[in-house]
Amino acid sequence: MEHFEKTYRNWRVLLFRANIMIACIMILVEFFMYFIIRENGLTLPSMRRYLFRYLLIPAAANTGAILSGYLLLKRRPDSGLVNYIPPVQLAFICMVAASVHYIFSITFGIFGIPIFTTVIYSDQKLTNRVSRVCYLFLTVSLIFRRFSPPEFGMDHFFAEEAIIAFVIVFLCKKVCNVIIEFQEEKSGILARSYLSQLKMQDQLNRDQKTGLYGNTIFMNTLDCMVRSSAETGDKIALAVMDIDDFKKVNDTFGHLNGDSVIHAIAELMKQNVDSNRFTARFGGEEFAVIFTGDAADEAGLFLEKIRLEFEKLTYEFTREPITVSIGLAAWKIGWTSEELFNHADTALYAAKDKGKNRVEVFQEVRQED
Ligand code: GH3
Ligand code: MG
Ligand code: MG
Repeated sequence: MEHFEKTYRNWRVLLFRANIMIACIMILVEFFMYFIIRENGLTLPSMRRYLFRYLLIPAAANTGAILSGYLLLKRRPDSGLVNYIPPVQLAFICMVAASVHYIFSITFGIFGIPIFTTVIYSDQKLTNRVSRVCYLFLTVSLIFRRFSPPEFGMDHFFAEEAIIAFVIVFLCKKVCNVIIEFQEEKSGILARSYLSQLKMQDQLNRDQKTGLYGNTIFMNTLDCMVRSSAETGDKIALAVMDIDDFKKVNDTFGHLNGDSVIHAIAELMKQNVDSNRFTARFGGEEFAVIFTGDAADEAGLFLEKIRLEFEKLTYEFTREPITVSIGLAAWKIGWTSEELFNHADTALYAAKDKGKNRVEVFQEVRQED
């Protein structure tokens, strides 16, 4: 998902830094371990051998893993595999620790750590693949133990400890999968409740009678669009419509028949709605359309089509056509939303004055000095 990409990038960097820290801590521990073991009077290989085996070789291997991970993260930041880099890198560092310290069988359990870091991605496929890498690295560490000369006596429990190590990796993977399923279910619940809230909000914003957007959301939307166009210079046009002689329709045929006319024009507008046309019923038999983008250029043609289609509608209660007058104004830089509305309204009045059933475009009258 695209909007998670930034979060994933941040977490990759955090995990990568944690890996560097773990590698550094390992070197320090190895360093102090030498003195602790010596103090306790335990048998130790010579200082030179210790330095090579427990400090230099592991430090070089870990530095190699850190550097190659860093280069991969830098060179291919958009690759789908990029999320795998920090956990695989950590699994490698764990393999180095387990291969060096196979004497302490507890080190085989650390392969659970890279598996747990994958939970942040909430991707079972990724967790399962990283677990497979951990099985592989665990096998490598076990091979080291199996074929290294025994320093502290015979390796009596090799098979048992190997089985336990594999079971630990398997259990960590299973627990991670359960956590991921839980997270997915929780996100699903949150997404569904967010969607139902949006739906409820949408219902509140709509006019009960026609299902078109109501007055408040219309005014707010117009204001937002004008403010945004003031910054971007994008086009906006506003049309206001008023059914002609509607009082007469009500008086002659009754309010219920009048309502059916309101429904008819609302349906006509709904059929023609798209993302560049915001349609609202802002008064009793008054409607508005906000045009943005390319639709603003074609607003005149669109309104003429609506006017004609409305005129052609037939009703059960009358053979006479019912018509609508429309005023249109194209937004100009410097106009507020109120000014745009007033100009569209002025054009509507002009349409009524000129005989109704027409689309009139607002023309700015230039004041001569
Ligand atoms: P004009 O051509 O100048 O617009 O004349 P008009 O008779 O249409 O005048 P006006 O626009 O002022 O009339 C509005 C009428 O619409 C008054 C009101 O009774 C009626 N009206 C408003 N809302 C509704 C409604 O929801 N249902 C019905 N049936 N009538 C409504
Ligand atoms: Mg009116
Ligand atoms: Mg009217």
